[in-house]
Amino acid sequence: MQHFFKKSLGQHFLVNKSILKKIVSLDEIKNKIIFEIGPGQGALTKEILQNNPKRLILIEKDKNLKKYLFKLQEKFKDTISLIDDDVLKVNLKDFNYKKIKIMSNLPYNIASTLIIKLIKNYDIIESMVLMVQKEVAERLSARVSTSFYSRLSVLIQLHAEVEKVFDVKPDNFNPRPKVESTVIKIIPYRKRKIHYDKLDNVLKISFKQRRKTIKNNLKEFFIDSEKKLLKCGIDPNSRPQDLKPIDFVKLSRVLI
Ligand code: SAM
Repeated sequence: MQHFFKKSLGQHFLVNKSILKKIVSLDEIKNKIIFEIGPGQGALTKEILQNNPKRLILIEKDKNLKKYLFKLQEKFKDTISLIDDDVLKVNLKDFNYKKIKIMSNLPYNIASTLIIKLIKNYDIIESMVLMVQKEVAERLSARVSTSFYSRLSVLIQLHAEVEKVFDVKPDNFNPRPKVESTVIKIIPYRKRKIHYDKLDNVLKISFKQRRKTIKNNLKEFFIDSEKKLLKCGIDPNSRPQDLKPIDFVKLSRVLI
């Protein structure tokens, strides 16, 4: 039976086998615990299985795709677990694995939100190989004082190394997306001593208006923010995009 693609779920299935193989070759899979987000009709799943993971946990929201995934699960009973749920509602730590890897052609509409949620689990994630919209890859890897530098760049770069590996043109998908994609590899750092929620709160407020000075973005929300900027060695008249990731860590420790 034909599958009707759901735009609302970012359904752009990869149809180029050599790209699927290339994605899978970017990480060691043998005997590892792999989570695949949005397996769809199982194109990437089949390539992952070829590399003998210890377990493969599939998280797919669209119940209409179950029939494709059930078939695979039957064939690989001892390896595959199928979770038919919204990945944004899943807590990776509930699975009780000490180390996991993530591989996915992400649904673009939730990519940034999901990556921010995933990176909170940096202590159990060994690596992530993800296909994202090219613009999201730019934001994830953007350096200070460049146009793509944002909350997402700072949050991710404080917790992980991000590598843009290769770009993928729209005609490798069915249906064809409007934008180009990029495959990225993210390797979380071990043992970060950053208070994640405090940092994220400071980032949300700091980047609220990029054209405003950092002083003006912060002043409504924090007591003595100008004094505290000076204490951290930050020019209160600089723009948020000119603060280095470490500056935001310092700020998150002193602002209340
Ligand atoms: N892995 C397949 C491939 O590469 O051809 C499909 C990738 S497609 C870009 C994204 C997949 O994520 C779709 O199967 C879609 O149904 C699923 N999806 C979208 N939102 C989701 C969510 N919140 N939780 C879990 N899966 C989701």
